[in-house]
Parts: sequence; structure tokens; C-alpha cells
Amino acid sequence: MSPLDPRKFTRLENFGHSLAAPSFVYRPVETGEIDEIFRAARRDGFTVTLRGGGRSYNDAALNGGGVVLDLGGLSRILDWDPAAGRVRVEPGVTLQQLWQKVLPDGWWPPVVSGTMYTTLGGCLGMNIHGKNNFVAGTIGEHVREFTALLPTGATVTCTPRKNGDLFRAMIGGMGMLGVFISITLQMKPMHSGLLAVSAYPVRNLEEQLCALSAGAPQHAYIVGWLDATARGRGLGRGQIHAADYLPEGTDPECQRTMQVAYQTLPATMFGIFPKSLIHHFMKPFMNNPGTWGVNTTKYLLSLRRGRYRQSHASFHFLLDYVPDWELAYGPGGLVQYQSFLPLATAADAWRALLDLSHRRGLPSYLGVTKRHRPDEFLLSHGVDGFSLALDFKVTSGNRPRLARILQEFDEIVLQAGGRFYFAKNSETNPQSARRFLGQDAIARFMALKKRCDPQHVLESDLYRRVFLG
Ligand SMILES: Cc1cc2nc3c(=O)[nH]c(=O)nc-3n(C[C@H](O)[C@H](O)[C@H](O)COP(=O)(O)OP(=O)(O)OC[C@H]3O[C@@H](n4cnc5c(N)ncnc54)[C@H](O)[C@@H]3O)c2cc1C
Repeated sequence: MSPLDPRKFTRLENFGHSLAAPSFVYRPVETGEIDEIFRAARRDGFTVTLRGGGRSYNDAALNGGGVVLDLGGLSRILDWDPAAGRVRVEPGVTLQQLWQKVLPDGWWPPVVSGTMYTTLGGCLGMNIHGKNNFVAGTIGEHVREFTALLPTGATVTCTPRKNGDLFRAMIGGMGMLGVFISITLQMKPMHSGLLAVSAYPVRNLEEQLCALSAGAPQHAYIVGWLDATARGRGLGRGQIHAADYLPEGTDPECQRTMQVAYQTLPATMFGIFPKSLIHHFMKPFMNNPGTWGVNTTKYLLSLRRGRYRQSHASFHFLLDYVPDWELAYGPGGLVQYQSFLPLATAADAWRALLDLSHRRGLPSYLGVTKRHRPDEFLLSHGVDGFSLALDFKVTSGNRPRLARILQEFDEIVLQAGGRFYFAKNSETNPQSARRFLGQDAIARFMALKKRCDPQHVLESDLYRRVFLG
């Protein structure tokens, strides 16, 4: 078989639909098929990219002209121990499959992304963080063991102690060292399918960051919405959502609230309107005045503080409420720019970013803030500080201006001692990567690359952009 079969040639896009790359796409269902493709790649000299749910905002799971392995077909839960809360999965298992398996037994994944459609392989490949990063760290901190198939054909098992250097490099290693083929994770015990949530407004950037700092030690989760269209005294205003687990015995209906049927997000609004249509109705508002109007209304509504109980799924996966919401951005799609800044420099740096975006007429339509902590993974985006994720609409008219402003943002962030996340930004260049990761981390990563993948079989558009560019 030649993996470069023209019938397999498919146009793949990033999650934001702002990038596209034609590739030869294969969907293995057994590890042996991956091994076969690696063997052909070593022989014929083509490159291979691993793809999970394709939920990265950028080019992480794209490989223009090469082979892409869609690992969604390796989606078996191999072992579940409900007494210990330990699960072993294939890499294509999604967070949705995982929480639906473990919650009825009283457990929840320790770290989740803002969508449940990511796979465990993709989550480890990027070392995702959740709204509890300040206390739980990244998902990698909850991995007890993984087995990986290397492009050489060798199989390796890693734990934090055994092959520890590879453990800390493959997690967050953008799928460039090998394929996770089985992953063992520790879940977190729950006594209810509900969280106790508090929602309160913040009037500006300083209040936003103070609220995250002060709130984080008191809560299990905290996240901020930032109205990036607001300027002047209201710059950085928004709303904080903090959430806590319910202590044992405080949810009289816990048997019911922990069932999948209770958690599942409804397919309709008000019981009648299909949510799959909502993104069409969002489209007319996806411009500067429209988003300003929507954000201002949202902010005014948020001035009323709220305390309520909410299911885990609806708290964590808010964005999944509106299926295909990213299509509302139109044919150019969107890019997300996420920067991670230390406590001391975040406010000034983000004021500079937001001011610049307004001066250039390129406001972000969605801003999200979180509180973070550093971690020990080799290609880490962690800081003792905060992150701000900003979504920007891409059009044929603004694409070059957007690319330029994102480079300017990089300079502001780097000057302030910040870091970036390889699952998000589309413009990070090799110089920026060197500056935030440090030459030593890159040299150590490249030494492992040489050991695990001497023929450079694993490459992606992201890897070429950031490490080979
Ligand atoms: C709506 C939305 C909300 C999000 N919220 C968050 C958030 O809160 N926190 C956060 O950290 N991220 C968040 N993300 C980003 C997302 O979690 C990451 O991009 C994640 O890596 C996507 O997983 P995936 O399965 O779609 O992987 P893909 O995007 O398909 O791949 C991601 C990377 O993992 C590699 N990879 C995939 N499978 C394997 C494997 N088996 N072995 C080795 N490498 C592999 C790929 O090569 C690629 O480099 C969000 C994304 C979206 C769309």
C-alpha cells in the first residue's frame, strides 16, 4: 500500500477555519496500521501529523502535502476501575466519552478543556489546562502512565519516574515525538453532578485580575469573561464565574445529577428551537458594532450577581452549547491569540494589547481570562500568573493587518516575560518560541526528537512554522 493514495487526498482545516491544508488522511483503528504508515514514511520520506479531534485553533493538526493520521478511530476505553478512579484509554477517546463513563460512578476528569470534543491524545499532545489550572495544574500532572509508539517502530512506556524526560517532553510535545497509544489517568472524586457557581461583574482590567487572584485560592474553578470591545475606564471589564464542588451529603439528588441524561446539553433552546441553527442568527452580529452591542448588553446583564447550581457539563463546556459557533465568524474564520503573563506584568501588557487592537480597528470579539501556575513540562505555557485568550474575526481584508498586529502583540508579551500556547496562536515564529521557551529547552526537545524520530517522520505545519522556520 502507498499511503500517498490520491483517493485519500482531503482538505483539512483548523478548528477556526482560518487555515487549510490538503493532506492524505488515514483513520487507523489499530496501532498496527500506524506502525505500517511510519514504516512507509521512513522508506518513502513523507511526513506524518497526528490529529485527534482537530480542535486546535491553529495549524497543530495540519500537514500540507503530507499524511495526517486521524486517531479518532482508536476510541476504546480499555480499563476503568471505579473504586480507584483510574482509567486507561486509547488516544481517540474524547473528553465527552470519558466524563460520561466516569461520572455515574462518582468521578470527573481532573482537567478539561472548554469543549468536550477534544481527544485524550490531543489533550496530552498540547498538555491542556482547565479553569482550575492554578490548583490542579495541567492534564499531564494527572497522567499516571502512557505507552507511545515512536516513528522508529519502537514502543515506550513512560511514567513521571520511568523515562521521565520523555514523559515531560511528549506531554505538550505537539505530537512530534511519538503517538500516545494508551493513556492511564487518575480521575477526581465527586459527590454530586452539580457545582455551586457564583457570578459577579468586574468593572475594569485591574478588577478582573484582582478577582482572579483573590478568588482562585477560595474556589475549585475560576474564569473571567472579558469584554474586549470596551475601552477607556471600562477597558478589561467583564464577569467572573467561580465554582466549587458540593460537599458529600449536600446534594439530595446526587444519584440523579450524576447521570449522563441529567448532564447532557439539550439540543434545543426553550424546548423548541434547534441549537444547531443558532450560529446562523449570530452571523449578523459578528462585526465591530454588532459585537460591541452584544458585549455591552451581556455586561449590563452581568451586573446582577448570581449564585446557583449548575451541572458539570454546562459549567465546563459552555461553548458546546452552540454547535458550530465558530461558523458564525464567516468564511475567513477566526484566530485565537492566548498569552500567559506573570502576576506583576499582566495588567500593563494586556492594557497595551487591548489599546492597540482598538487603535487598529481590530477589536477581539471574545476575551477569556484564567489564573495559572507553572509546571515542569518541557514545552510549557505555564506561568504563575494569568492567561488572556482573545478571538479575532479573519476576513480577506484584515488578514495581513491581523497577522502584523499579532506579531506586535508577541513583542509586548515577550517584553513582559510572557509565554504562548501551541494549541492556540497562529503567528508565533521561531524567534518568539526561542525567547519564551529558552534555548536550553529547545535543545533538549530537539535531542529527544533525534532519539525518537531520527528521520523526521513526524512534522506538522505548526512544527515547521515554530521550530524549523
Ligand atoms: C472551543 C474550544 C475550547 C478550548 N478550550 C481549551 C481550554 O480550556 N484549555 C486548553 O488547554 N485548550 C483548550 N482548547 C484547545 C484544545 O484543548 C487543544 O487544542 C487540544 O489539543 C485539542 O485536542 P484534539 O483532540 O482536538 O487534538 P488536535 O487539535 O487534533 O491535536 C492537537 C495536538 O495533539 C497531537 N496529537 C493528537 N493525538 C495525538 C496522539 N495520540 N499522540 C500524540 N500526539 C497527538 C497533534 O499532533 C497536535 O499537535 C479549546 C479548543 C476549542 C475549540
